Amino acid sequence: MEYFSTRNKELKVSSSQAILQGMSRDGGLFVPISLPLIEDLDPLMDMDYREMALFILEKFFPQLGNKNLKEAVNRAYDTKFTNEKIVDLKTIMGVNFLELFHGPTLAFKDMALSILPHLLKFSKAIEGIDKEIVILTATSGDTGKAALEGFAHVEGIKIIVFFPEKGVSKVQQLQMITQEGENTFVVGIKGNFDHAQSGVKAIFNDENFKEELKKDNYILSSANSINIGRLIPQIVYYFYSYCQLVKRQEIIKGEKINIVVPTGNFGNILAAYYGKHMGLPVNKLISASNNNNVLTEFFNKGKYDRRRELILTSSPSMDILISSNLERLLFQLTGEDEELVKDKMKELSEKGYYETVELDTSEFYSNYADEEDVNRSIRDVFMEGDYLIDPHTAVAYSVYKKYKEDTKDETKTIIASTASPFKFGKKVASSIGIDIRGKDEFFILEELSKKTGISIPENIKSLKDKPIVHKNISTKENMKNMIKGFLRVGDIYG
Ligand SMILES: *Cc1c(COP(=O)(O)O)cnc(C)c1O
Repeated sequence: MEYFSTRNKELKVSSSQAILQGMSRDGGLFVPISLPLIEDLDPLMDMDYREMALFILEKFFPQLGNKNLKEAVNRAYDTKFTNEKIVDLKTIMGVNFLELFHGPTLAFKDMALSILPHLLKFSKAIEGIDKEIVILTATSGDTGKAALEGFAHVEGIKIIVFFPEKGVSKVQQLQMITQEGENTFVVGIKGNFDHAQSGVKAIFNDENFKEELKKDNYILSSANSINIGRLIPQIVYYFYSYCQLVKRQEIIKGEKINIVVPTGNFGNILAAYYGKHMGLPVNKLISASNNNNVLTEFFNKGKYDRRRELILTSSPSMDILISSNLERLLFQLTGEDEELVKDKMKELSEKGYYETVELDTSEFYSNYADEEDVNRSIRDVFMEGDYLIDPHTAVAYSVYKKYKEDTKDETKTIIASTASPFKFGKKVASSIGIDIRGKDEFFILEELSKKTGISIPENIKSLKDKPIVHKNISTKENMKNMIKGFLRVGDIYG
């Protein structure tokens, strides 16, 4: 199994190199040269989550070896997940909510970021690298904490997280700035997520800066969802939940299902797309956006246009104008046309948009939900289904309802439920009629808990009393200096 760049198919690397580099040197993203096929689902039916993860990861990362992968899986999916099944599938009003938020940070990013540090560690050993790895990450909220949680205290690795100072929820912010671990560094960026992300991308493309770090024995790597080591573990839960539906006799083996994913950087839904092309029986992949509906336009109008103001919504992890992983889909949908991908990405960065009229995107349905849709969805699901969903999941639910209205399709459906409702307490509470005016976030969570009978997750409760350890604020322009300061490299530190 080898990987090549979406912008140059000659540029081939092994799985461990792809994991270590995060992003290809030519600015492209690594994709598997071919997807492994799972023709028979029978052997998967009785696997638990860890067994299935090992089964799938071995197909993509054979170079890492069975023993290492087994250790990685066992360390990742252990008791830090509060649900022993790791992911849960709840059928509410005929729809299947795939709960991906039982990890340490209560969002689906834990699914991949709890295993990535181990994949990196083993890749580093296989490649014989003695330098210290510096993980550089921009986050729209959930990635940051999940990465910090995964990498904190891991030897030989440091982690630096940039988040938009005003673009994350209170709980998300507290989760990050209270992070412990000598090897962690958290910085608030003046600006939005795209500023933070494009700043990080520019640093990855700055050869001089990377040389400077190298002299001090540091190499950069990424934990963002562009890293193939994050993407692949996300395929597992789609196969796992499909098998659950078969076992519960909700569907018969081979029956196609729809998968709805609240989408931001296009990583989670791309994993579902990969799953489909590996043999998972899928009817439609439903991409749900919030008011930042760039992707809806891409699928419905054949145009990707980031020339607009980013809108801050109640689903901050999807407040994104540049969905990085879409480059991988573009590569696939154009029949692996590296030149076209290169041109389109150049247009996107220079002109702010590109057109793709000739693409066949019929595997997908795409739509978006505004704040009123989100409020209504949270309320409806609570009132009618006695089930609490977070704003990201509400975006997905709302778009699913629009899909059903548009198509009358009755195919059994899985909705990726990506965060605990307690991570976004204010919005969830107000949607179900709790008066939140002038109330403190933690007080609101108590009220939410009282009204719904669901207890506040321990990892959120404990935030209240944790000391704030990261107080750094920076402009986008000053990010490199912040990094040098933390690593103590460069002129000022001699
Ligand atoms: C990151 C995130 C998303 C978006 O996932 P992508 O893989 O970036 O498309 C949706 N919901 C939550 C809660 C997230 O943290």
